[in-house]
Amino acid sequence: MMDAFRCNQCGYETLSEKYYCPKCRNSSFSRLDIEGKGEVYSFTTIHIAPPKFADKAPYQVVLVQLTERLRVTGYMDEDIDIGDSVSFKEIQEGAYIFQKSS
Ligand SMILES: [Zn+2]
Repeated sequence: MMDAFRCNQCGYETLSEKYYCPKCRNSSFSRLDIEGKGEVYSFTTIHIAPPKFADKAPYQVVLVQLTERLRVTGYMDEDIDIGDSVSFKEIQEGAYIFQKSS
């Protein structure tokens, strides 16, 4: 499960709590529990990583479509393709880690 927030006015969804909606400037949000399952929208394979992640390369930076309105950038160490089903695994150093769904 992941925590998300939805703007009560325009329906904008985000994973990080905000004071103002970037779309409509409304300041009232509802908390959503989302399952954390989605599809790979796009991805990039990182072969040469910044020093902090050097021991993890190669890895994938994935854009995951979590809900109709919410896409999130995550990280995976498995081979993937656009359209693959993935699920949220954990947060590591502030990064969202995903894994392939079986
Ligand atoms: Zn809004």
